[in-house]
Amino acid sequence: MRVKILGSAAGGGFPQWNCNCPNCSALRRGTLKARPRTQTQVIFSPDSKTWFLLGASPDLRHQVLATRELSPPRDDSSPSPIGGVFLPSADVDSVMGLLHLREFQSFFLFATAGVQRVLQKENKIFRVLERSDPPVKWQTLSSKGRLGCHLSEDSSAPPEFICTTVSLGSSYPDYVGEETLRTLSPEEATVGFVMEQGQRRFFFAPSLSGSSSAWRSAAETSDVTLIDGTFWSDDELSKTGRSSKSAREIGHLPLSGPGGLLEQFPANDKGRRILIHINNTNPILDEDSAEHRTVREAGFEIAYDGMEFEL
Ligand SMILES: [Zn+2]
Repeated sequence: MRVKILGSAAGGGFPQWNCNCPNCSALRRGTLKARPRTQTQVIFSPDSKTWFLLGASPDLRHQVLATRELSPPRDDSSPSPIGGVFLPSADVDSVMGLLHLREFQSFFLFATAGVQRVLQKENKIFRVLERSDPPVKWQTLSSKGRLGCHLSEDSSAPPEFICTTVSLGSSYPDYVGEETLRTLSPEEATVGFVMEQGQRRFFFAPSLSGSSSAWRSAAETSDVTLIDGTFWSDDELSKTGRSSKSAREIGHLPLSGPGGLLEQFPANDKGRRILIHINNTNPILDEDSAEHRTVREAGFEIAYDGMEFEL
């Protein structure tokens, strides 16, 4: 499997257009040792030809155009190498990019029943995806199941890769109406994915609420774990004047502090640990900071746009 990180920041990107936090303003001034980042987008390919998107970021158009592997092939055998999209949640940051994919193109759309209901019933704008002929093909993921995925039409052949969903325990986005919310399973709100081919697997979990610990065994057994690095501290947003809410209140386990990710991450994991979905306020973005050094010394890498690996 080939995996590429096209975007590594949380919502708003880095710098964020309306943010004057110490990181964003220093990056604009050119006085911060840090890379700019677009909003989180990961792609992977089981065969180096067909690519799947994990989430569909608000920056997707730019990210697709900047990625050679995602250009339509010259022989015109298929209009796009993008075979499908796995949606971890119905959050704006995970689904907004679907609107960039509306140009009469059919592909598979993998999501839990809860996320599908939000997108199909609550938000009519996503009906633009039905205009292709054939329309996009929705595939239902359970909140903790395994799904064998085929690249060819022949479903009797062994699957090319297996997707295991892991419920991450966050809630549905604020925009979902109360009436719809009552009909939805909380377990299906936010999921992570373990993508497995042969003995190799990677785990993608950009949003950990901390209310479920199912992610720990997936992190322990994966060759690469791409995991929630949104906030350094629980009070980061109030300290930088961005919001009065804590990291935990908006569904992200902070990296530091009691019960934080650094403390909870399994010590006996066997693979690479990579922080992704990093908010622009997070001090780990500053490569000269003590927090950057702390996460590196704790064995974590920090994702950047353009990072790639092969499994
Ligand atoms: Zn900022």
